[in-house]
Amino acid sequence: AQGINWIYDPALNKGTAFTEEERDALGLHGLLPPGINTMSEQVLRVMGNYRRKRSDLERYIFLTALQDRNQTLFYRVLADYLEEMMPVIYTPTVGLACQEYVHIFRRPKGVFVSAKNKGRFSEILKNWPNKNVRVIVITDGERILGLGDLGVAGMGIPAGKLSLYTACAGIHPSWCLPVTIDVGTNNVDLQNDPLYFGMRNSRIRGEEYDSLIEEFIMAVEENFPNTLIQFEDFGNLNAFRLLNKYRSRICAFNDDIQGTASVALAGIYAAMRMTGQKLTDQKILFLGAGEAGTGIGDLIVSGMMDEGMTEQEARLKCWFTDSRGLVVKSREKLAEHKLAYAHDFEYHQYFIDAVKALKPTAIIGVSGQARAFTQPVLEAMAEFNERPLVFALSNPTSSAECTAKEAYAWTGGRAIFASGSPFEPVNIAGRNFEPGQGNNAYIFPGIGLGVIACKARHVTNEMFLAAARELADKVSEKDFKKGSIYPRLKKIREVSADIAVKVAEIAYDQGLATIDRPADLPSFIRSQMYEPNYRNYA
Ligand code: NAP
Ligand code: MN
Repeated sequence: AQGINWIYDPALNKGTAFTEEERDALGLHGLLPPGINTMSEQVLRVMGNYRRKRSDLERYIFLTALQDRNQTLFYRVLADYLEEMMPVIYTPTVGLACQEYVHIFRRPKGVFVSAKNKGRFSEILKNWPNKNVRVIVITDGERILGLGDLGVAGMGIPAGKLSLYTACAGIHPSWCLPVTIDVGTNNVDLQNDPLYFGMRNSRIRGEEYDSLIEEFIMAVEENFPNTLIQFEDFGNLNAFRLLNKYRSRICAFNDDIQGTASVALAGIYAAMRMTGQKLTDQKILFLGAGEAGTGIGDLIVSGMMDEGMTEQEARLKCWFTDSRGLVVKSREKLAEHKLAYAHDFEYHQYFIDAVKALKPTAIIGVSGQARAFTQPVLEAMAEFNERPLVFALSNPTSSAECTAKEAYAWTGGRAIFASGSPFEPVNIAGRNFEPGQGNNAYIFPGIGLGVIACKARHVTNEMFLAAARELADKVSEKDFKKGSIYPRLKKIREVSADIAVKVAEIAYDQGLATIDRPADLPSFIRSQMYEPNYRNYA
């Protein structure tokens, strides 16, 4: 082969780390500077460049370019500097990158399927060079993070999520396929942007939409059997319907609904370890009754039933407010996913009144409404709880329901706080808090690894419950001392591997695994994990 191809293929390229023998064997002499660098030297160069950038968006662009140039080195720096890079490749910066996607675009990652190619999706998937695809993350771009409809510019999300599958759970990069399905956009700014490169019609809905999704699923089954499909950032209108339609038919889950649920429940379990209470002692009031909120509610109900409650008793422990106030029985025209939580109770329009009437032990913000957990709300929570649970999960940071500082300051430092986007450490009354981030990246990579390792036919609720318990068990006394109910990101590969083991065990127990049970499941799982090290080509 032409030596230069080894340099241009990001999956093969080692840059200045090609050895003397490799340069001889592959015909690379002269095409690289004569000196040879080790990978650690290359990492130094990358980090120097990375830290010199003036903004996080520049850092994002830099990392994306590195991924296009030298995949192994990209995953190496990501593994070594995950805490530093997570806010760049994921929320909040990835949100900005999607908003700017059509302007900063250089090279595509993954596959675009467009409604204008209806009938040809299978042929399109055949164009993808890797044949051993094991995980697909697909979006239609309708509800990107808390940012709304970004059309095909939402592609940054599936690409970013799959980078995390590799970085956090060692899923081989060639097994990962990001997909964006273009059904148009209702975002007028994008429709009018000359640089936009999706269809400019408004979103296709109804049967036409469903048939596009169905064609895509069939095309995946045909071309990539045994592939896990993660639905990501679909609008409310489609997310629940698609999940219910496909969860028992194929191997699929929705991260916004189920992954979020698992990471939030893990936070509650960890908080229970801190306070010595039980899950069934909790009464939870949600701000927001969408995908994240009702997903969390449903998993809490499963967790409470596991501790002996009936479904009805468990539902009565979960309360919701949406854009129109407290969700109660007397309200008319409630969306399907809210009905199970429409309890017989007086209606309150304002969150603070619902808090005072219900006296919850926990408030969970998943509304996208910045600063909705006001001083009166937090003071009330601190009045009837020794350790109020306060989760401000809305992303990005600017949308959080309260800041870490507010949560601690307005509860006399007694809140057990977690957020969706990271916050800087806070010093209140001489105490230092480093609150944890309820990041879905603690959950979905491990779920994915477990599912694909045993080729499970479906992804089940029990898997998310087990993942939540495993994650909560991983929080150390040291984390608790800092006020964090999540482990350090540094440990994430270990956490993912252990979650994967639990997930695979459930797949075997539920008869869903399609390969023989290995004698030693933990080492089998670990043997599947990709390590970003150079291979020797000589
Ligand atoms: P969604 O399905 O669109 O749901 C949003 C919910 O918020 C809806 O129920 C909506 O009410 C409600 N809402 C809107 N304005 C409100 C207001 N003023 N007061 C009370 N409720 C209001 O979105 P989602 O997928 O659930 O995501 C919601 C947020 O959670 C986003 O910011 C997202 O970034 C965040 N999130 C965080 C994590 C994480 O931290 N791990 C994971 C996933 C999502 P209606 O039903 O009346 O429209
Ligand atoms: Mn999402």
